[in-house]
Amino acid sequence: MKSEFDVLVVGVGVGGATTGFFLSSQNIDVLMVEKKKIVGSPVRCGEFIPTQESLKKMLPNSKYIEKIYSLIPEKVVSNKTKWIRFYSPSNKCFEFKFDGLVLKRNLLEQWIVEETLKRNVYLYTSSLVKSIKDRGKFSLVLVEGSQFSGVVKAGIVVGADGFPSKIAEWYGLKTGYGLSDVAFAVQKVLTGVDVEKDVVEMFSGNNYAPKGYAWIIPKGDDTANVGLGIRLNHFKVAHKISVVEYLNHFIKKHPIASKRLSKAKTLNFTAKLVPVGGIVSETHKNNVVLVGDAAGLVLAVNGSGIPTAMISGCIAGELIAEHVKGNLDLNVYSNLLKQEIGKILGRSVTFRKVADIFMGSDKLFDFILKIVGVKGVSKVLKCESLF
Ligand SMILES: Cc1cc2nc3c(=O)[nH]c(=O)nc-3n(C[C@H](O)[C@H](O)[C@H](O)COP(=O)(O)OP(=O)(O)OC[C@H]3O[C@@H](n4cnc5c(N)ncnc54)[C@H](O)[C@@H]3O)c2cc1C
Repeated sequence: MKSEFDVLVVGVGVGGATTGFFLSSQNIDVLMVEKKKIVGSPVRCGEFIPTQESLKKMLPNSKYIEKIYSLIPEKVVSNKTKWIRFYSPSNKCFEFKFDGLVLKRNLLEQWIVEETLKRNVYLYTSSLVKSIKDRGKFSLVLVEGSQFSGVVKAGIVVGADGFPSKIAEWYGLKTGYGLSDVAFAVQKVLTGVDVEKDVVEMFSGNNYAPKGYAWIIPKGDDTANVGLGIRLNHFKVAHKISVVEYLNHFIKKHPIASKRLSKAKTLNFTAKLVPVGGIVSETHKNNVVLVGDAAGLVLAVNGSGIPTAMISGCIAGELIAEHVKGNLDLNVYSNLLKQEIGKILGRSVTFRKVADIFMGSDKLFDFILKIVGVKGVSKVLKCESLF
């Protein structure tokens, strides 16, 4: 079994899969290692992304949008939505046009990996990266799995292992995060729901998601992803009931949502930490780079992390390929990332912090929403400049 590679990608979510894809057209040895038995499954995500046109409006100067959407074929899309409807704590409705896609995310990751494997990249599934020794010019990586158990020697390591990233921890890369920068997200896939298929709904209010929000994302048939996120620093306030209880309470008691979900049955439950503190302090060091959630690339006000994970995978893949050929230094990675998505991520954290000031009081938040109106709500949720 081959145990020496130019590049090792740890974790095959959207970030890792995209990195592998953009490395695969190059003449370099790449190994991808994923602890799940089947790439992409189980899904732990709301699966909602902007359409290519919507993302272009959010990131007008991006060089990577066409590249990442070329990896999203029609067959991995389960629904197309046209509107976002945001409810204030007193259930005033703020609705705006926004074209989106609801993905079959497991199929997305599987499709990218299938395309990648056609191009001579190695993949070990059911395989856990257990530890890493940084030897400067290369790393020795202990992998334990069904296809291979032993030490892999890798020139470059890509931390695509989600949040919190063990790869970041092992290489001593700092996040700069506090408790308010991490959300605990829980979600159920519900069937038998009565929702509008082209509307993504978001609900605020401290009774349901303290200083966070809940969502209903229609999957196109009679199923929907229904979840909510609460930041870790609000657990003290919220801890009298667990986050799962908050979700059950939302499903059963929210005056609007409960009507849509009254006959629903649960198909699947999932829970995961989500980074909402913006790009982590260190995304690169020597021969390691971080992509996706490992690098903190989630838009803090709306929880969107799929497009940014794919963009970072694209940047990392292309840069590493040039680096292995001796053309570019990996040092430029952090700057490339910031140039591409730094502004929108920074803005989303600022909006989150400002919203924090108002969201402690439902009355105050209702009042502020009334002042900013639908235009303001739309700009904040799309992370657009307010000026
Ligand atoms: C409930 C919920 C709802 C969400 N909804 C949305 C949404 O609607 N839209 C959106 O854009 N974003 C959403 N997000 C965020 C989005 O899911 C993430 O931003 C995205 O998955 C990041 O992709 P990633 O590849 O960086 O990380 P991940 O998807 O977390 O992938 C990391 C991979 O690494 C593997 N791994 C970890 N450690 C190891 C190891 N040591 N060895 C081997 N493999 C390892 C894991 O098994 C996993 O497959 C949501 C998140 C949650 C939790």
